[in-house]
Amino acid sequence: MHTDLVAALDVGGTKIAAALVDGDGALLVRAQRPTPAREGAETVMGAVAEVLAELSGSPLWGRATAVGIGSAGPVDASAGTVSPVNVPGWRDFPLVERVGKAVGGLPVELVGDGVAMTAAEHWLGAARGYDNALCMVVSTGVGGGLVLGGELHPGPTGNAGHIGHVSVDLDGAPCPCGSRGCVERIASGPNIARRALEAGWRPGPDGDASAAAVAAAARAGDPVALASFERAAQALAAGIAATAALVEIDIAVIGGGVAGAGDILFAPLRRALQRYATLSFIRQIEVAPAVMGTDAGLVGAAAAAARVGPGGAVAVRG
Ligand SMILES: [Zn+2]
Repeated sequence: MHTDLVAALDVGGTKIAAALVDGDGALLVRAQRPTPAREGAETVMGAVAEVLAELSGSPLWGRATAVGIGSAGPVDASAGTVSPVNVPGWRDFPLVERVGKAVGGLPVELVGDGVAMTAAEHWLGAARGYDNALCMVVSTGVGGGLVLGGELHPGPTGNAGHIGHVSVDLDGAPCPCGSRGCVERIASGPNIARRALEAGWRPGPDGDASAAAVAAAARAGDPVALASFERAAQALAAGIAATAALVEIDIAVIGGGVAGAGDILFAPLRRALQRYATLSFIRQIEVAPAVMGTDAGLVGAAAAAARVGPGGAVAVRG
């Protein structure tokens, strides 16, 4: 019997997904439940147990050698606990221990969802072949992760690279994290939409006031919509330039719903980078859209588990 699979678990505020993932990153068996995000801790854990039970009913389950978890943060990988902002029932919830029990003692690796997305993009996506990368998810929030010296760099608690809460506006608006002027406070989808609405942009007849609707208006030339994306792009560029100055990255990969705006985001982002990334060693940063899509969390959780799995259970090909 081959023992070449990793069970991956992706815990988010809206869905809990799981899959058996092979050494090429293919998802062989999948299970998914909505996250009962407003329920108590045990109800949420019940949904996790259900997707794991569904996986373990597969004839392939015996080949799984480890479990990788990518979870909405904050996470604490050193303690094995998670406290997802959008799942209030889970505060310091011992997810690693509980999943370990549910899977009969297989080793369990936990990382934040931004780090998982980064692992996926480095393994099989837009950061493949780059030894130093910042990968970002720009959507309802802004998260991220780092690859340094060719290796995923989750940091001691599994949150390293959380660029969304780097402040780029010293006296800026208060951020839910407690700081001010964070990248997320300016560049997340809801904040792009909020800024456009405050400046006088109005949604069309369908009433859609999302960042995607602002992007559509920008594409049609609406100056207020364009300005809101320009501001988001500036915040992202400042965060990327700061990261590059600190740890010398070669590429910034940007995914998430807001990145779906395409050139409406990427064109002003590249322009802003020329203004903020001025030192010789950070001038050449490449910027690329993420390519792993909605499976990035599962593929990345598998990659994170394989990285530390027993005897390198899965050969992660870089
Ligand atoms: Zn913040």
